[in-house]
Amino acid sequence: MNIKHVDVAVVGGGAAGMAAALRAKKAEIEDVAIFEWASELGGILPQCIHPGFGLDYFKENLTGPEFIQRFIEKVGESRITVMTDSTVIELEAGCPNKLLVSRSKLGLEEVRAKTVILTTGCRERGRFNLNLSGDRCAGIFTAGTAQRLMDIDGIMPGKRIVVLGSGDVGLIMARRFAQEGAEVTGVFEIMPYPGGLQRNVVQCLEDYGIPLYLGKTVIEVRGKKRVESVIVADVDENFNIISDTKTEVKCDTLILSAGLVPDWRLPRILPPAKGIDIDDRTSGPVVNDLFETSMPKMFAAGNFLMVNDTVDDVTFQGELAGESAAESIKFDDMRTNRIEWRDTVPGEGIRFVVPQKFSGKSDVRFYLRVKRPMEKVWIEIPEIGKRFFKKIVRPAEMVKIDLRAEDINDTPRLSFNLSVLKRRGKN
Ligand SMILES: Cc1cc2nc3c(=O)[nH]c(=O)nc-3n(C[C@H](O)[C@H](O)[C@H](O)COP(=O)(O)OP(=O)(O)OC[C@H]3O[C@@H](n4cnc5c(N)ncnc54)[C@H](O)[C@@H]3O)c2cc1C
Repeated sequence: MNIKHVDVAVVGGGAAGMAAALRAKKAEIEDVAIFEWASELGGILPQCIHPGFGLDYFKENLTGPEFIQRFIEKVGESRITVMTDSTVIELEAGCPNKLLVSRSKLGLEEVRAKTVILTTGCRERGRFNLNLSGDRCAGIFTAGTAQRLMDIDGIMPGKRIVVLGSGDVGLIMARRFAQEGAEVTGVFEIMPYPGGLQRNVVQCLEDYGIPLYLGKTVIEVRGKKRVESVIVADVDENFNIISDTKTEVKCDTLILSAGLVPDWRLPRILPPAKGIDIDDRTSGPVVNDLFETSMPKMFAAGNFLMVNDTVDDVTFQGELAGESAAESIKFDDMRTNRIEWRDTVPGEGIRFVVPQKFSGKSDVRFYLRVKRPMEKVWIEIPEIGKRFFKKIVRPAEMVKIDLRAEDINDTPRLSFNLSVLKRRGKN
């Protein structure tokens, strides 16, 4: 088998992967290679033809293809090896790390890489992950599949649409169907609040007169060959179905947009990399503030690390992972081995904190998600006596807290806690 040697192997050529590769190259690393399963670079972005990308990174409101084209061009101008139609199917940690790559038409190739950056994105939860019962008929699509059919292949998946899940992807697809003349009967959300950004609730549903039903879910699909209707029902506070609220909603298409999870399907990670620690809260790897996983010289970024709201955050994370990978090659004694990593703790009202470990030696941006929507709150970090006021927090909107090295270098841990603003004179 052909064996190829690289300094940095980036697995996945979406926004995170390209940002990581470009940053490693900028740090003067010689052999940087991107391995991408698809036939072109870009990840999910080429099919996201709506605006809303790049507001933080470029300070411009771009469509997905416009945003990613800038990175594709930069990668093309740099001396980064791009291997499309190349799926990393196995990964074995070591010195060097070994990757088994399946290249269409060319067969299998082994790659030995000093460092690996995992940026394989996330996957959508399908019908069987959602335990959705009923007939096995045509007309059930995940939102990403429907988006690809419409915006890459030019195929309209249906005319009368029900959307399950009000995350950003579901909201954007509800609007996309309405724009193409379909009737969107409603977006059904099991939680008592929307799952997506507030700006998307307004711009995608309210502006198009599409109803949003909260505390309701789809429990059954009915149809002989094609979907003919779905049964929806209210849920109680423990998400149990309230039987006497069952209603039939006529439709020919059900769009599933009920959650994304970091994509671990490929590569198959072999021992000892099997030992990469996973955070149950994010379903992604545990990382330190260099975005290095529990396996030295193996880094992670983007939606594989945690499901992000915006491509801007994904890009910043890719850049940090690329920079860290470059540094780990330049300082081969692996400075991270000599660091005593300390823990971050998601405290009261906080679902997760990334990175999960910090050194106290550098400034860190912490990414947090809250458990439920709240107004006028403090995010308190008692160990360092700091707190940050937030007018409103929502599970759908990532909270970012920037802390400086001098504030965190003495503390053995950091816990992040939500507390409600108390008015003066009141207990
Ligand atoms: C419908 C929709 C609407 C969105 N709207 C917005 C918006 O308005 N504004 C905004 O900022 N963000 C938005 N986003 C979010 C943003 O697009 C994503 O967060 C970002 O593009 C994710 O980048 P990524 O590189 O982490 O993952 P991806 O783009 O998913 O890239 C991962 C890549 O890895 C490849 N891969 C996976 N496994 C392997 C393997 N084993 N070997 C080789 N390659 C592999 C995949 O083929 C893919 O190309 C939206 C996303 C969607 C789906």
